[in-house]
Amino acid sequence: MNEVSVDNCIFCKIASKQIPSSVVYEDEEFLAFKDIHPAAPVHVLIIPKLHIDTLSTTQVEHIPLLGKMLELVPKLAHELGCGLVRHSDGSLTGGYKTLINTGPDGGQEVYHLHIHLIGGPKPWHGQR
Ligand code: AMP
Ligand code: ZN
Repeated sequence: MNEVSVDNCIFCKIASKQIPSSVVYEDEEFLAFKDIHPAAPVHVLIIPKLHIDTLSTTQVEHIPLLGKMLELVPKLAHELGCGLVRHSDGSLTGGYKTLINTGPDGGQEVYHLHIHLIGGPKPWHGQR
């Protein structure tokens, strides 16, 4: 794994707007933007603005941040049109995948913690 720091991290640069991205959500702590190579009709990446390399390098003090990041997933899914809907007859429609790739064997390409939110009507052209 290459050494990644805040100075040469592409997602830190996206968070600080040094590199443009298609932002779908932003608050003080988090940014969500469209994946440049979407695997499905909805494919966004949710990142903390704080640089954390991987899920495996998170510490106890990151628990609130991780909780808030996860809480954003269903909220953004609904805003982006792929939220899970329970109908009056009990049936479900919509829904999405959430993915956190970690390390070389986990297929992680960018070493700044991110959640993939992948959804939308099937078929999807890319399967993660
Ligand atoms: P991962 O394999 O989980 O590290 O995924 C990294 C993701 O970041 C891939 O799906 C890439 O398509 C996406 N990506 C890389 N660079 C950019 C960028 N500049 N803007 C948006 N998405 C990007
Ligand atoms: Zn970073």
